[in-house]
Amino acid sequence: MKRITIAIDGYSSCGKSTLAKALAIKLQYSFIDTGAMYRAVTLYLFEHKLIDTEGGIDEKNAIKALSKIYLSFIYNPSLKYAETYLNGENVEKKIRDIIISNSVSKVSAIKEVRTKLVSLQQKMGKEKGVVLDGRDIGTTVFPEAELKLFMTADEKIRIQRRLDEYTSKGEYITEDEVRKNISKRDYEDTHRKESPLLKANDAIILDNSDLDKQQQLDYVMRLINDLQLIK
Ligand code: C5P
Repeated sequence: MKRITIAIDGYSSCGKSTLAKALAIKLQYSFIDTGAMYRAVTLYLFEHKLIDTEGGIDEKNAIKALSKIYLSFIYNPSLKYAETYLNGENVEKKIRDIIISNSVSKVSAIKEVRTKLVSLQQKMGKEKGVVLDGRDIGTTVFPEAELKLFMTADEKIRIQRRLDEYTSKGEYITEDEVRKNISKRDYEDTHRKESPLLKANDAIILDNSDLDKQQQLDYVMRLINDLQLIK
């Protein structure tokens, strides 16, 4: 059976990773969470005091530090996806912290950061049989992807989903904090100079405001079959 590349882009907290993971399991593909990579770089910069408490970045030294950042991904069979490691440490939990979420868009706007991570993503996905989620997959990382989805959802629903995620992990965060974070990231991601978040011309819009996880998976599997992408 033909193996393809599936690119999922879209706004923050639209459920891109959830859908990407489900598709990867269903198709026995690899799932590549590109947002986790930008988050891991942000974590490194925080831990090395290259981002201050106000969110200001020491860009010159941050760029120099990139050569010291080694990212790896190790499959966790109980979770059924690969977890992100920063210089050998599993950072899955740390990179989801709101402190990282508040600075990641600034870090991801740095050209040198994008060059390093896009090249890693292209290497990881070159054999196809991959589902990647991010902001520039269909436009920059794999513009030739056979299936491109652009995800969106009602803002209230996105906020609620993110709040539920924090609650399920036993973390407390206010609705206002989540709202501010989502709208700030969307603004910064769509307005940056280097590969901004943009719908690729050939991407299919998926508004999942009224769809549960199974309905989204069924919809995409139907698309793959109807378009005869893996025949
Ligand atoms: O997907 P996630 O919300 O974890 O992404 C975190 C941030 O990483 C985004 O808000 C964006 O600034 C950046 N990002 C990016 N390009 C990607 C994936 C994520 O710029 N392909």
